Amino acid sequence: MAQRLSPETEAAVRARIGYFRDLGIFDFYRRGEAPAATAEEIVAEIDTKTTAPVADSRELLQMPKAQPMPVLEQPTAIVAPKDKAAALEAIRKDIGPCDRCELSKARNNIVFGDGDPNARLMFVGEGPGADEDAQGLPFVGRAGQLLNNMISAMGLRRDQVYIANIVKCRPPQNRVPEPIEANTCVPFLFRQIDVIRPEVIVALGATAATYMLGGKSPLSALRGRIHQARGAKLIVTYHPAYLLRDPRQKKEAWADLQIAMSELGLKPQPKAPV
Ligand code: SF4
Repeated sequence: MAQRLSPETEAAVRARIGYFRDLGIFDFYRRGEAPAATAEEIVAEIDTKTTAPVADSRELLQMPKAQPMPVLEQPTAIVAPKDKAAALEAIRKDIGPCDRCELSKARNNIVFGDGDPNARLMFVGEGPGADEDAQGLPFVGRAGQLLNNMISAMGLRRDQVYIANIVKCRPPQNRVPEPIEANTCVPFLFRQIDVIRPEVIVALGATAATYMLGGKSPLSALRGRIHQARGAKLIVTYHPAYLLRDPRQKKEAWADLQIAMSELGLKPQPKAPV
C-alpha cells in the first residue's frame, strides 16, 4: 500500500527536484530499480500518494512520457506602440478571474506581468512565488531583488523591460508547474509577447526555456547561444532563485546577459551583479 508522505517530506522532495531542474537535470534513477523517472513522474507519484486524484491529475498521469507541447500559432499582426498598453489590458481582461487550470485553487492574485509595453528586452520566469502571489506582481521577492540588480548591471531600469512568467498563478509550495498547467497558461504569455514584440527575451531557468522553445533540453545545452522564439532572439540563463542558492553561477548568468546586451547594442559591463 502506498505510504503517505509528511507535508515536510513532500515539500523537501519538491524543493530538491526543483533544484535539480534548475541545473538542467530532468531524469532520476532509484537505486535497485531499472526504469528512469522524470521529475514530473516523481512529483505525480507524490501527488497520488498524498492526495485523492482529481480529473486533471488523472489526465496528466495518462499522458505519454514525451509531453507534446501546444502548437505555437504564428505571431499576430503588429500592434502600434501607442496601442500596446491597451492591447495588453485586453489580454488581461480575457484572462479574467481565471480558473482554467488547477493553480487557480490556491492563488491569491493572478500575476499578469509588469513593465514597459514597448520594451526591447523581456524576461520570462517560471511562475509567481509567495511574495508575487501576495502583491500580484512578478519578481518582487528576494529573487526579484537579484533580477533588479541584474537589470541595473545591464545599464537598464526595471521599468524599461517587461517581466512575466510561464504560469500566472503560484504553484503550491512553489513546485514546478505541471505540463497541463503550463500548457494551459502559456498561450496568454505568447499573446503578451506578440503585442510587446521584444527584440530579446531572456528565459530564466529550465521551465521558462522548455515552454518558450517548445521542448525540453538540459539548461547546459541551451545556454551560451541565441535561439529564436515568437520572432525574438531568446537567451537562456539561470533562474535568479537558483542563483541565490548557488551564487557561484552568477558569473555564468552574467555571461548570458552579456549576449543579450550585445544583441541589444548595449555597452558591455565588466562586473557581474551582486
Ligand atoms: S495559471 Fe494561468 S491558466 Fe492557470 S488559473 Fe492561473 S491564469 Fe488561469
